Amino acid sequence: MRRLRSTLDRIDRKGYGAYKDLEGSYELSGFTLFVDRVQRDPFAPPSRIRTRTNDNRFDPALFENLTRRLAFEDFLTRAVEQTLGRTGRGNRGSGGSGRIEIQRPSQVVVPRASMVVADGYVEARMAAGFPARGRTVDARAAAAMLLEELPRVVRDALNPGGIDEDAAREHVETVEDAERLRDMLPELELVAFVADGAILPRESGASDRPLRAGAVPFRSPEEFRVSVELPNRGRVAGMGVPEGVTLVAGGGFHGKSTLLSALSWGVYDHAPGDGRELVVARDDAMKIRAEDGRSVAGVDISAMIGELPGGMSTGSFSTPNASGSTSQAANIAEALEIGASLLLVDEDTSATNFMIRDERMRELVRKEPISPFIDLVRPLYDSLGVSTVVVVGGVGDYLDVADRVLLLEDYEPHDATARAREVRERFPPRTPANTTGEARPPKGRRVRASSIDLRRGKRETARGRGLHTIELGRERVDLSYLEQLAEAGQTEAIARMIGAFASDGASRGLEEVVRTALDAVSRDGLDSLGNFRGHPGELSLPRPQEVAAAINRIRSLRASTGS
Ligand code: ADP
Ligand code: MG
Repeated sequence: MRRLRSTLDRIDRKGYGAYKDLEGSYELSGFTLFVDRVQRDPFAPPSRIRTRTNDNRFDPALFENLTRRLAFEDFLTRAVEQTLGRTGRGNRGSGGSGRIEIQRPSQVVVPRASMVVADGYVEARMAAGFPARGRTVDARAAAAMLLEELPRVVRDALNPGGIDEDAAREHVETVEDAERLRDMLPELELVAFVADGAILPRESGASDRPLRAGAVPFRSPEEFRVSVELPNRGRVAGMGVPEGVTLVAGGGFHGKSTLLSALSWGVYDHAPGDGRELVVARDDAMKIRAEDGRSVAGVDISAMIGELPGGMSTGSFSTPNASGSTSQAANIAEALEIGASLLLVDEDTSATNFMIRDERMRELVRKEPISPFIDLVRPLYDSLGVSTVVVVGGVGDYLDVADRVLLLEDYEPHDATARAREVRERFPPRTPANTTGEARPPKGRRVRASSIDLRRGKRETARGRGLHTIELGRERVDLSYLEQLAEAGQTEAIARMIGAFASDGASRGLEEVVRTALDAVSRDGLDSLGNFRGHPGELSLPRPQEVAAAINRIRSLRASTGS
């Protein structure tokens, strides 16, 4: 403490670069402060600091197994964020100076680099904008930050006296229940589960927080109701979505897309209060949409698409500019390549000619390379065991290929399977979907590391830029359509994984690239993606599906099927 004060006194009013002298560690009361990396000027990305408590006096039940520990780390990150919001004084002086921040968690609970709960300590990783007056050191403001605010954060968020222990217990128990529930899905032959009482709608199109006013809680139709026993909550009832093909029908604005979106987020656990705490799906579920304009590198879409104009091969299809339907076909093939047992398809975000082709068009257009999804959805399940939940408001032909039909009316789901059968008998299709084909798994690809160029001027870069962009050298990879990417920390982690693969230089199977990167993280922790010692940066764990999807969207990528 004395050393920190005297360094601050010494550098006061000097050029901002003098803050470098703070790098190192300091024993403050009850915790150690690490100043890992100091920014060069007030406008540069903030400095990185860590606080490590001298002991861990939290109830060990909060972190007694891996699931609980990760959930508790998530809880503490949120606690620090709240404390900072309450006590932090925000900007002081120029640039981002005076601000302390911790990685901002989304609604989901994922492993993050922001917090470490160990048996003997709790460590928070934060960013601090060291205060400046113009371009000089403002030591008084820095002292207030490091010697007053920071100790308050440690006291109120990283010690048992400061936090709400009941809330912490609820947090870890909720996550543990969701994990257990997701683990139970295969043995129950379900692909998803939505608990009665869940709140599915979100605050707005731009916010993933729950809708507060007027949200109609979910209530399962009797025919779909399943009851499960969870370790903490006990018996819970809700809607089980069985394996196979499930159609979600209903009028416009009756909640179809909201339900599908909730299922797509069910691959993650949610923090208490989210409304979707007990909405889970198979962890490899993939939302599939059209994405015209995306690039595609050597993907085997032959199962869906025959010969393209000009004899273009679909066994190894590449294009810098996919159409709506070919992009959707590529998205499915890539999902199957990395592994997906559940596809989630919403008519709203699909290419019409990918979903369906009616009798007249089949007659008029003889040269149609694309088998519509309606012909594919049964074989996908019957020969590959891949289930689908498809939202359809307009295309009745899908009634023919569904195992069951869920009808949404005023946000309330009903079982319409029997009624759908009657309708089908009264209005039989004149050209039934051709569902006898066999679906083949797509051939796996090798991706060439040398096709990814990390150079940007004199430096090499592979970094995240917010949630939806990865910067690799001079290329910006657009991830806007990855609907299951939850937070910027995942984007950053994916960028670093791609960076490591690119520097490695070898060509490998795509699946191998992804698994190797994620295995290393599960063995050595997210910190192993850090690029220097100490604070590793803002990182969250991504799914294999999003890592693969990001690689697949690199425009310069060269990949080919076969060895
Ligand atoms: P659809 O896909 O059937 O056209 P959406 O899922 O887009 O409908 O939902 C339409 C609107 O209704 C959205 O604004 C959504 O937030 C809202 N909504 C959906 N489900 C509920 C619910 N259970 N309670 C209240 N509002 C809901
Ligand atoms: Mg919709």
